[in-house]
Amino acid sequence: MEVQYLPGVGPKRASLLRTELEVSTVGDLLHTYPFRYIDRSSVTQIADVRGGNAYIQILAQVVSSELTGKGAKQRLSVLVRDLSGEMELVFFKGIKYTYDRLKPGSIFLFFGKPSVYNGKMNMVHPEIDNPPTEGAQNFSGTLTGVYPSTDKLRNGGVTGKVMNKLMAEAIDRVIGDVEETLPEYILKEKGLVPLKYAIRNIHFPSDPTALSKAQYRLKWEELFLLQLSLLKQKYVRSRAENGIMMPKVGAAFNACYNALPYELTGAQKRVIKEIRSDLMSGHQMNRLLQGDVGSGKTMVAVLTSLIAVGNGYQACIMAPTEVLAQQHYANITRYLAPTGVRCELLIGSTTKAERRPIHEGLQDGSVGIIIGTHALIEDDVKFKNLGLAIIDEQHRFGVDQRSKLWSKGATVSPPHVLVMTATPIPRTLAMTFYGDLDVSVIDEMPPGRKPIQTMLIWEGKRPAMYNFIRKEIDNGRQVFIVYPLIFESEKLDYQNLEAGYEEIVRRFPMPRYKVAIVHGQQTSDVKKFNMDAFAAGRANILVSTTVIEVGVDVPNASIMVIENAERFGLAQLHQLRGRVGRGSEKSYCVLMHGNKVSKESRRRLELMCATENGFDLAEEDMKMRGPGDLEGTQQSGLPIALNIASLAHDGQLLSDARSYAEHVLANDPTLSERVNSSLAAELRKDKYSVKDYSKIS
Ligand code: ADP
Ligand code: MG
Repeated sequence: MEVQYLPGVGPKRASLLRTELEVSTVGDLLHTYPFRYIDRSSVTQIADVRGGNAYIQILAQVVSSELTGKGAKQRLSVLVRDLSGEMELVFFKGIKYTYDRLKPGSIFLFFGKPSVYNGKMNMVHPEIDNPPTEGAQNFSGTLTGVYPSTDKLRNGGVTGKVMNKLMAEAIDRVIGDVEETLPEYILKEKGLVPLKYAIRNIHFPSDPTALSKAQYRLKWEELFLLQLSLLKQKYVRSRAENGIMMPKVGAAFNACYNALPYELTGAQKRVIKEIRSDLMSGHQMNRLLQGDVGSGKTMVAVLTSLIAVGNGYQACIMAPTEVLAQQHYANITRYLAPTGVRCELLIGSTTKAERRPIHEGLQDGSVGIIIGTHALIEDDVKFKNLGLAIIDEQHRFGVDQRSKLWSKGATVSPPHVLVMTATPIPRTLAMTFYGDLDVSVIDEMPPGRKPIQTMLIWEGKRPAMYNFIRKEIDNGRQVFIVYPLIFESEKLDYQNLEAGYEEIVRRFPMPRYKVAIVHGQQTSDVKKFNMDAFAAGRANILVSTTVIEVGVDVPNASIMVIENAERFGLAQLHQLRGRVGRGSEKSYCVLMHGNKVSKESRRRLELMCATENGFDLAEEDMKMRGPGDLEGTQQSGLPIALNIASLAHDGQLLSDARSYAEHVLANDPTLSERVNSSLAAELRKDKYSVKDYSKIS
C-alpha cells in the first residue's frame, strides 16, 4: 500500500516522504524507526536544570523573543519561563519559522541539551513540541518516538507529531499483514520477540523493557541477515572449482627466502602459510591482509608473487601512488636479485619508449612480476597469464578499478587476489566490509622496533621544537615535517606549505642543513629528486604534504612533525607516525596544534599520545566519528545501509549474529530447507544484494 492512501497524506506529502526519507509504501514507513524517544512523563523544572550532557524536557511559556545580527550571523534568543524560573533558548537556523511560532504567551514543550553560557543556563536549538492537549493521561508514562526529519518535511507539514499519527495509522492498517522474517527456531534459540511485537513497540513502546526487546530483535535481525548474505556468497564462491592451481613454491621462492637478510616474523610465516594453502586449494583466493604500518607486508607480497612465478604465472602488484610504486620497485628488485625473475615498473610517467618492451614482456611472459599504479589497468596492458593480483593500500582503489584488472587475465580462471591494507579496520567493519573475504592479520612487528614517543605541542612552543629537531639532526637523524592538504582549500594549503618551507629553510640554513620539499603539484621528476635526496640522507629535513603518507621507508628518519595535527583524522595521523620508528634509534612524533582546538580534536590528539596500536585507534575513531566517516571507507561505501544497528556500537551483537549465521549455513548451506525459507526470501530482497568485493571477474 502506498503511503499516499493514508489519511492526512496527499500527493504532496507523499512525494516529500519519498524524496526526503525514501518512504513510498506503508511498509517503508513501518521500517522508518525513531532515532530517539521522548519520555513525556518527565518534565524538568527550569530551576532544576543543570549544565551537563543529558537531554531534558521543559514545559514553559514564551516570555519574549529577540532577533539580533544579520544574514548568516542572525540569531534568535527566546526567553521562556515556568513556575520555577526562566531560561534562554537560542536559535541560529530556521529563525523566521521559529520566531513566528514562539509567540509570547504561548506554551510549548522544549526538548534539548542544557548548557551554561555566561554563567546562565540556556538551550541551543531545542526541539519544539506543542504541549499535550489530549488530557493528562497521554502526557504521562509514554515514550514518544522522534523520527528523522528535514526542513523540507517540516515546512511541508510533516512534523514530528504528524509522523507519529501516520505511524499509528500505518500500524492499525497493516500490522496484521506483517510476516515474520525469522524462523521460529531462531526466535526461540536467540530469545527474540516476534516481528509484529517489535514493530509495534519500536514505534509505540508500551514501556522501556518492551522498547529494548524490540530494538534488540530488529538490530540482531539486521546484522544477522547481512552476515548471512555475505557468508553465503563466500560459501558459494569457495565451492566453485575455478581457482588456478599453484601446487609448488618453486625455485624462485626458495632462492629469495634463503637469501633473506632477516628471519621472517612468526606472523609473516603464518600468513604465508595461509596464502599457500589458498593457492593450492583449487579455489580462487580472495584474501585481505591487514597489518599495521611497518609490519612487513611487502615481504609477504614478494614471496606470494614468487609462488605464482614458480608455477608459471605472472603477478602484478598495484600501489596507489607513483612514489609508493617506485619505492616498492626499488625494494622488491633487491629481494629478487637472487631469483633471476624479471620485474618491471609501469607508472604514469613511464615513457612510451620504455613501455614498449614492458608491454611485450608482459605478453610473451618474460616479465614475471610487474609493479605499478593505475597505469597497470590501462587498456593496452595485456598479460600472457596473470595468476595473481596484489593490491596494496586497498582502500584507494575503487571496486570498478579492481574489476578492470581481472579482465587482464588471459587464463580461464580469475587470478588470485591479495588485498593488503595498512589502515587497521575495526573488527566489526572488517566483518561487514570484507565479510566475504578471508582475512589474515600480521599482528607482530619485526624485532627491534622501538616505541615512538608522541608529543602534543602547541604553537607557542615552536622554538623549543626547533631546538629539539636541531639536536636530533646534529646527531645524524632526519626529520619529516608534514602539512595538511585538504582538497577544498588546496590553494590555501599550498600557501601554508610554502610558508612553512620558507620558515624551515630560514631556521635551518644552508650549508649546514639541507631541506627537501615534496608535494603533489610537482612533476614526478622533481618529486623523485627530492625524495631520493632525503632517502639517501643528503637532505636532513623533508617538508611535504601527505604524499608521504604511505609506504615511504627511511629508517634513519626519527622525527615526524605533523603541522596542524588537529586537521587530520586518527587513521591518517597513525599512518604518518608509522613513517618513523623504523630504524634502531628512538623516534618521536610531534603533533603541532594551534590555540583553538575543538574538544573532539583534542581528544583525538591525546589518544594518539596514549597508544600506538592502530586497531585501538581505529575502534576509537569509529566511535567518535561513526563508521561512515572512517578514513579509507568513504570511497567504497558500506555494502548496505544499516537501518537500526550501528557498527560502531553494536559490535557484540554483530559477532553474535555472525557466528549464528555461520551456524545456520553449516546446517543448510544453500538455505533450501523449509524451516529457512523465510531467510532465503529475505536474502532475495534488493537490500541484501550486497556488492561482492571479491568477485571481480
Ligand atoms: P609495511 O608494508 O607492512 O608497512 P614493510 O614491508 O615496508 O612494512 O616493512 C617495514 C620494514 O621492516 C622494512 O624496512 C622491511 O625491510 C623490514 N622487515 C620486514 N620484515 C622483517 C623481518 N621479519 N625482520 C626484520 N625486518 C623486517
Ligand atoms: Mg607497505
